[in-house]
Amino acid sequence: VPKLLALSVASAAVLALTTSAFAASPPSGPRYPVSTGHRPVEETAENLRDRALKGDNIALDFDRELTTRFGPRPAGSPNEQAAAAWAADQMKAMGFSNVHIEEFPLTGWSRGLEHAELITSAGIHQPLGAVSLGEAPGTPAEGVEGEIAVFDSLEALQAAPDGSLAGKIAMVDRKMVRMQDGAGYGPLSRIRGAGPGEAAKKGAIAFLLREAGTDHHRLGHTGTTRYVDGKVPIPAFAVTNIDADQIDRLEALGGPVRARLVSGASYVTGTHSQNVIAEIKGRDHPEEVVLIGAHMDSWDQGTGAIDDGVGDAIIAAAAKLIKDLPERPSRTIRIVFYGSEEVAQPQAPFGAFGGNAYLARRKDEVASHMAAGESDFGSDRVYGLNLPKGAQGSEFAKRAGRVLMPIGVTVTEQPSGEGGTDVGPTVEAGAPSFELLQDGSRYFDLHHTADDTFDKIDPEQLNQNVAAWAALVWLIADSDVDFRAMAKEPAKTQ
Ligand SMILES: [Zn+2]
Repeated sequence: VPKLLALSVASAAVLALTTSAFAASPPSGPRYPVSTGHRPVEETAENLRDRALKGDNIALDFDRELTTRFGPRPAGSPNEQAAAAWAADQMKAMGFSNVHIEEFPLTGWSRGLEHAELITSAGIHQPLGAVSLGEAPGTPAEGVEGEIAVFDSLEALQAAPDGSLAGKIAMVDRKMVRMQDGAGYGPLSRIRGAGPGEAAKKGAIAFLLREAGTDHHRLGHTGTTRYVDGKVPIPAFAVTNIDADQIDRLEALGGPVRARLVSGASYVTGTHSQNVIAEIKGRDHPEEVVLIGAHMDSWDQGTGAIDDGVGDAIIAAAAKLIKDLPERPSRTIRIVFYGSEEVAQPQAPFGAFGGNAYLARRKDEVASHMAAGESDFGSDRVYGLNLPKGAQGSEFAKRAGRVLMPIGVTVTEQPSGEGGTDVGPTVEAGAPSFELLQDGSRYFDLHHTADDTFDKIDPEQLNQNVAAWAALVWLIADSDVDFRAMAKEPAKTQ
């Protein structure tokens, strides 16, 4: 018996002693129209919430075991494949339905040994804290060396004359801003994606990015860059904030500053990744699907505990709480542990490979997806809920507010966007999305670094995440709420 199952059995035993709250709640019965106010469906959501909040859920065990058994899980690696097989076994053992794995082909990427150093104008060599960006090619064994040309934005790099960077190393030096909602990340990930291609166009031999991270440590934040016409044209590294500051000071002393970069990165062709699917079959409307997802792959240097092992853990734990109810929800809840969220690909659709592979098999089923959401922002507390467009101020929004406000989650007036990278393609194809907004204040201190490890999980905040997910997913799955109809008729309450 795997350890997680043993723990689950233990928590089931605890549950047996503490079912009085459940016994007191009426059965969920036929699904309840949202318009009729407080109903057993809402009490059940409150019970799920409170149980999760007390720590009576498997999330911490799931993340611990996933990250301990498999460590990092780069897309297409044996680690990711084995982790997916393990997760499927876990879901089967916990009693979920229709558990299976859907494979898809992938080009993987492997870091290899790497080394970077600065060479000042006086010929002094200094270590340079830098890590290769994902999907960037390796260098010759002796590395590449050149003068660093610093730009303060991607636009400034794009404006450089063609050929002006011949033999040089282009660097975009823009600090990421720490924000609760993580909005500081978007501009940096855009530079990370486009930077190497733009630098190569100007003749550069390598590209440096001031890392997409908010901490002052020397571990370095990796992340994928993008292919241009089927290849990443030049080696590319993320430079730590500390070392970018050092480059700035050396430049201020008059420069020029040179760098030598060595990367043993290589591509892994002909491998595969996979999505793991599990379901709670709906009681009345099994054809109607509430899709919840997170991704199984991670970057290679930490153990992917916060990005995104803990997202898998949150949705698995929320679904397990619902599955253990005396009655199934009206609609089907589908749990997807997506493969290959992190790495770009040389051919279309270029990114979100798990999300696109999921959709490719279900183009005809999108209309039966009633809602879709994913957990991929660590596990610090949930503070807000964005519902699909048209649902703002609706009876459903009020119901969600009654259940979630007591644990500090505000139902916002902001319509949900793409829902996340993994469910994004399905949402773009027409599925209504929801977003449980998490506090990202410290997320980008750890994200994509060697410090993305299990010890960073705050159990109390993790429990609050599971509470929010279990309650909300139940409310959607055991009701007739129709977000598509609301989007068409935003004035009509539902
Ligand atoms: Zn992620």
